[in-house]
Amino acid sequence: MNFNKAKDRIKIIGAGLAGSEAAIFLLERGYLLDIYEMRPAIKTPVHKTDLFAELVCSNSLGNKDIISASGLLKEEIKILGSNLIRIAEDCSVEAGQALAVDREKFSKCVTDKIISNSNVNVFREEIKSIPEDSFAIVATGPLTSESLFNYFKNSLNSKDLYFYDATSPIVKYDSIDLKHAFWGNRYGKGEGAYLNCPMTKDEYDFFYEELIKADRVRSHLPDEERYFEGCMPIEELAKRGRETLLFGPLKPRGLKDPNTNKEPYCVVQLRAENKDKTLFNIVGFQTRLTFKEQSRIFRLIPALKNAEFVRYGVMHKNVYFNSSTLIKENLESKKFNNVFFAGQIIGTEGYVEAIATGLLAAINLHLKIHDKGYLALPKTTILGSLINHIINVATDKPAPMNASFGLLPPLLEKLNKKRRYEEYVKRSLYDLNRYLSDFQYKL
Ligand SMILES: Cc1cc2nc3c(=O)[nH]c(=O)nc-3n(C[C@H](O)[C@H](O)[C@H](O)COP(=O)(O)OP(=O)(O)OC[C@H]3O[C@@H](n4cnc5c(N)ncnc54)[C@H](O)[C@@H]3O)c2cc1C
Repeated sequence: MNFNKAKDRIKIIGAGLAGSEAAIFLLERGYLLDIYEMRPAIKTPVHKTDLFAELVCSNSLGNKDIISASGLLKEEIKILGSNLIRIAEDCSVEAGQALAVDREKFSKCVTDKIISNSNVNVFREEIKSIPEDSFAIVATGPLTSESLFNYFKNSLNSKDLYFYDATSPIVKYDSIDLKHAFWGNRYGKGEGAYLNCPMTKDEYDFFYEELIKADRVRSHLPDEERYFEGCMPIEELAKRGRETLLFGPLKPRGLKDPNTNKEPYCVVQLRAENKDKTLFNIVGFQTRLTFKEQSRIFRLIPALKNAEFVRYGVMHKNVYFNSSTLIKENLESKKFNNVFFAGQIIGTEGYVEAIATGLLAAINLHLKIHDKGYLALPKTTILGSLINHIINVATDKPAPMNASFGLLPPLLEKLNKKRRYEEYVKRSLYDLNRYLSDFQYKL
């Protein structure tokens, strides 16, 4: 296709995290864009606003520490020019080691940055098939509209892959009983950003017994139990055993309750949702309990006994497809020339992963227009290893994948975990910088 930058328009389908990152990259290089976003005309079961790049659940973009898979992924995409990570840093709220943002401010900044550009047309409409007449990035996410996903299944011969994912509740700060809560981060790391709600053994035992027998929202689907391990509903996690929560989200390690001067038996952690700290998310409490049961059982936590819920946790079906059969290493469709896919629909999982693949799809589309090849990131980088995993996955029913040190090629030397992670980070950044400086085209 002969592309004329002065008059040909690129289509972006879906202005979520991946689509918005892709849009800003292309706008900065002077392209004309048509963005198709179905909200608010057609709603998803989870999004609450008509803003671009809405965070549907937690307001955290993961660990800031570079010696972690999520921290390294953020660093890599900053090197590649990510705008959304920079905006997230500008909109951050205190959250210890995590990069958490004021969710509304973040999405508003991203939306304003895109719609204030005169090269953009925004169409608030649902797309039901893949455009074949122009360059396009499809980034419709895990809640892709049904008609478009059915179209994918038929035209791409894609299997129906999906899993269930849940969101956690949000409570009002002024409804929290601060006599039963204290500020602090595990092991004193960071600036005491979490509001910790301790429970004694008796309180936990009662809470636990009520949690495992609570009413859940029923689904008519036969295989409703297909969850993503990293976002397991709290009640499902609890069913694995009484101790599971104590070693998971309710772990008290590294915290001292100033009321007793001791480590509590367990703690529920709350993290600020906005800069003004008027709203707090119950960390790790994604759930599919009925709303009535959420208010009854979560109010058994002493600090939350009068909690006012501004949002209850909900559970949703997430769709994605098997990228190994459908897309190439540059994220371009095998079937439709010039159509790139990005975000969670390609089988990655997580906010930063969606941003990262949005950026990569935009870079590769830009390179394709200029006939300059594509970025094949070293597999020693977190992003390169994630793309390698979803493109070359061995099974025909892959599970969605987060960035993980486990995807990286092993080191030659045998090292303890801490040293091994440090070496992964050093190797990744060295290889990425060398690869980019050798790449024949300046992005
Ligand atoms: C319930 C739930 C909870 C999650 N919680 C977390 C979490 O806490 N932390 C985390 O890291 N990740 C979480 N995720 C996973 C994932 O990171 C997010 O879903 C992320 O937003 C994916 O980014 P995306 O750009 O692929 O899709 P989205 O951000 O969802 O963007 C897709 C956009 O496409 C639009 N769209 C869909 N179909 C069409 C169509 N046919 N035409 C036009 N527009 C369309 C949608 O309205 C949406 O705006 C969660 C996912 C779900 C569903």
